[in-house]
Amino acid sequence: MSDHQSIMTDKLIERRNDGCILCGLQVLSCLTNAHAHEGAEGHPDRTFRLCWSCHRMYDHDIISTEEVLAAEEAWARGARPDAAQLHRQIENDLINQRRIVNKARQYGDGPQKAGRTRRKTI
Ligand SMILES: [Zn+2]
Repeated sequence: MSDHQSIMTDKLIERRNDGCILCGLQVLSCLTNAHAHEGAEGHPDRTFRLCWSCHRMYDHDIISTEEVLAAEEAWARGARPDAAQLHRQIENDLINQRRIVNKARQYGDGPQKAGRTRRKTI
């Protein structure tokens, strides 16, 4: 194997090991580093490798920190999840109200705080 082939092989292996720990997507331009939510070990410096979709679901509490931690552990063991199966499961859980959408985590109460600030200054 030439040096060039060896470098290419190393890059491919590196790429195969970089992906969304929840759904397995390995399109590098779609991957993000999601900050751990409060209460997670190592918070606030800890991040998880998630795709944009899974990042949003995590930020809306559709996916819990416990699930992300379990996925991270599974990914480290070499498990590669099935994205379609994960998405159908989450959709079914939302339909059956086994999961909730909490946009407040991502957006907080910023507008209310701004309102309180404005009232103070009037
Ligand atoms: Zn994902």
